[in-house]
Amino acid sequence: MHWLDIDKTHVWHPYNSLPSKTKLLPVKRTDKTSIFLEDNTELIDGMSSWWSAIHGYNNPRLTKAIKTQLDIMPHIMFGGIAHENAATLCKLLVDLTGLNSVFLCDSGSVCVEVALKTAIQYQEAKGLKKYKFIACEHSYHGDTLAAMSVCDPNNSMHNIYGTYLPKHIFTKAPELGFNNDCTKAIEELEKTFEIHHKEVAGFIIEPIVQGAGGMRIYNPKFLVKAKELCIKYDILFIADEIATGFGHTGKMFAMEHANIKPDIMTVGKGLTGGYMTMAAMITSKEVSDTISNSQLGILMHGPTFMGNPLACSVAIESIKLLLETPWQKRVLTIEAIFKEELEAAKNLELVENIRNIGAIGVIELKDNIYAQEIQDYCVKNGVWIRPFGKLIYSIVAYTIKEEDLRKIVKVMIEAIKSVKS
Ligand SMILES: *Cc1c(COP(=O)(O)O)cnc(C)c1O
Repeated sequence: MHWLDIDKTHVWHPYNSLPSKTKLLPVKRTDKTSIFLEDNTELIDGMSSWWSAIHGYNNPRLTKAIKTQLDIMPHIMFGGIAHENAATLCKLLVDLTGLNSVFLCDSGSVCVEVALKTAIQYQEAKGLKKYKFIACEHSYHGDTLAAMSVCDPNNSMHNIYGTYLPKHIFTKAPELGFNNDCTKAIEELEKTFEIHHKEVAGFIIEPIVQGAGGMRIYNPKFLVKAKELCIKYDILFIADEIATGFGHTGKMFAMEHANIKPDIMTVGKGLTGGYMTMAAMITSKEVSDTISNSQLGILMHGPTFMGNPLACSVAIESIKLLLETPWQKRVLTIEAIFKEELEAAKNLELVENIRNIGAIGVIELKDNIYAQEIQDYCVKNGVWIRPFGKLIYSIVAYTIKEEDLRKIVKVMIEAIKSVKS
């Protein structure tokens, strides 16, 4: 049986049926910002594997770090045991975020679960029974059940699971545009906090860019206001930086655009440079002290692969590499090129809106019926992107060559033109 036939018969793919209703690309290998198919066709990577491969693929330094660790200790349980890799990684995260306490998790969704549990335990430790969260419309925080319950209720999978999901409180998403007015959303946010604060443990948001729920870029003022409200009502501010973290918006963390610190931050995706699955929840000392000094006194979570040394080793190297390279200059150059190239899509009949920030470029269409056709066109023309719904977008590695980035956007636009003819 050819492996593709095995795949067809036995293997689930993300958000798909079995067998897959859509064609899957047989990929053989990767190199830098290229993906090579079975037949050696080369595609320029316009997705950086869902925000994760920030340095491109097969980076020699990252590969060496993980290979070295492989011979020393691939894994060890973290219960009752400490190892230098975890400590080194956590110190890097603490220094980068200005927060204090790190909990290592195996994936972004799990990390969001832990953040929600932490917020509830924090309030509980203060003698408060607060079990609700405020989240924004268009938000995306992951696919596990609790994470799903703080995702946009209309735009996501809430209805499939019916009453199984806890009901949280949703407020209007900030208006589109980094420099645009967001007073309407702020007004609603104030009302939402005022009405519900007594039952709310935390406010969770993706800073600056709402990712999978709509690729929406918004004004940092919204975050500043939310922080004020969180302080006023003693609600924890949870910044979900799993997508935006490690430079994607032109700042190391998107919260820096608003110049404020969250109480809890979640990071993932780019954390290991796209090599291993790993995420981290980072909190203020106040949060960890409050839980640790409570009657229960412990944070109730502990994944089997917590602090996996291989993942730690490559995360450490990825962060060091990022800090040693002119990543910010590169991301801002990418931002300028996206802006320039996306202009050509502005007045197309099918296009609703174009937007970009940092290493992210987005074309929103008026209709959601073209995604597959546009993806097929791009692949045929040497570019890998994976649009969803109305959103044709690209997130690139910071090491992408200028000509490759220009090609990605040009082919995206050609593809949009092609579906109408
Ligand atoms: C991808 C993502 C998650 C979930 O991470 P997984 O590693 O896919 O579980 C959570 N929050 C945000 C903002 C994300 O973009």
